[in-house]
Amino acid sequence: MPEQLTTLSQSSLQDYYDCPRRFELRYLQRLAYPAIETEPALENEKHQKEGEYFHRLIQQNLIGIPAEQINKLANTENLQRWWNNFLDFRSHQNFGSLYPEITLSAPLGKFRLVAKYDLITIDKDRATIFDWKTYRKRPKNELLHIRWQTRVYRALLAQAGAHFNQGKPFAPEQIEMVYWFADFPAEPARFLYKADQYKRDWDALTKIANEITSASGFPKTDQVSKCSYCPYRSYCNRGIRAGDAADAGLETEAEELFDINFEQIGEIAF
Ligand code: SF4
Repeated sequence: MPEQLTTLSQSSLQDYYDCPRRFELRYLQRLAYPAIETEPALENEKHQKEGEYFHRLIQQNLIGIPAEQINKLANTENLQRWWNNFLDFRSHQNFGSLYPEITLSAPLGKFRLVAKYDLITIDKDRATIFDWKTYRKRPKNELLHIRWQTRVYRALLAQAGAHFNQGKPFAPEQIEMVYWFADFPAEPARFLYKADQYKRDWDALTKIANEITSASGFPKTDQVSKCSYCPYRSYCNRGIRAGDAADAGLETEAEELFDINFEQIGEIAF
């Protein structure tokens, strides 16, 4: 039992699912990244930082800072394009009540399952989860559908979201998750939820939490393709050259890191 680990998240679960060894290195041994994940490294790092900053701009806007004040902060080509796309998207939405940057958690086996949401909106009796993505390529819906993020975010809102609904838990059918892509603004991915999916997800989450609790080892994945974008390649003798950032898609997501960086970014001064 990994005593030092008390929480699970969609990122750590995804890592465990993709490669137990990566989960061990990242969340149990907490190893710093020894290798770049994608090439070209500098461009990818810039893209990642812009993505984090973009989330910050949206959050500021959603808590009430007027767009005109934020416009000048979208000061790179990517940020300008994403920001304009977001404003256009927002102008067509009837969000209802807004809960940006909200964290939910619930017990899961011996852990707490934690998720930080970009935005939850409540409109009458419907709850919608929005997640902003700055991917270079629009992932297929089939891939997103099976990602742990899609499963965890909806399940956790059903499990721990009663305070948004006058103390009554949302029925899964009242929940929807939307991925909005800053570079593909007219092609959001929408995932409704159903009771049988919720049961399946929560059972799977419980099973995986119990498996992690009783694991005696964390083997390397058999799917060597997973290693191309993994920063721990040098620990595993799984190659030196990094994969191409443009092809990485979902593989290089590290929301955990994103969360840490997010907290470290200071308040935007207006
Ligand atoms: S390099 Fe491959 S085997 Fe090693 S942690 Fe990464 S994904 Fe797992």
